[in-house]
Amino acid sequence: MESTLVILKPSTIQRALVGQVIDRFQKKGLIIAGIKMMRLSEALLREHYAHLVDRPFFPLLVESMSITPVIVMSIKGRDAVEVVRAMTGATNGRKALPGTIRGDFSMSGQENIIHASDSLESAEIETRRFFKPDELFDYTPSLMRSMYAPDEI
Ligand code: UDP
Ligand code: MG
Repeated sequence: MESTLVILKPSTIQRALVGQVIDRFQKKGLIIAGIKMMRLSEALLREHYAHLVDRPFFPLLVESMSITPVIVMSIKGRDAVEVVRAMTGATNGRKALPGTIRGDFSMSGQENIIHASDSLESAEIETRRFFKPDELFDYTPSLMRSMYAPDEI
């Protein structure tokens, strides 16, 4: 099964939305394979957001992402990368559709609640960036048969 990397951003911690965001992933039937709190250094943010370092808003993005610790999660499920991106919604919370996490909880292009990997390749690189192998867990929730048909697992 596929895994994707999610970061609950400082805005989510500050606004006490951590539980509601995690609840959405669990209710969908996605599996938490890893979860921890950490502070993101500027060096790590420069690596993670390498595609944005030359953009004028980059210093503001670094400030925003390091104002509190974040919660990083490895989330597993069939087609998890695509499913979680769809649940996340468009980058700008004002453009994100209602029903998506950003669409329901954000009014901002920067303070947009979560990061989610945008491809399988990014998911693999980002999972390695934030988790050591022994911080990731392989287990089968007992409700698996109610969440997937046997030929979907
Ligand atoms: N961002 C921003 N202003 C912009 C574009 C992006 O502040 O004009 C921030 C925003 O927090 C976004 C992050 O930079 O989530 C990464 O941007 P990306 O284009 O990768 O969007 P995402 O993959 O998060 O939807
Ligand atoms: Mg991105």
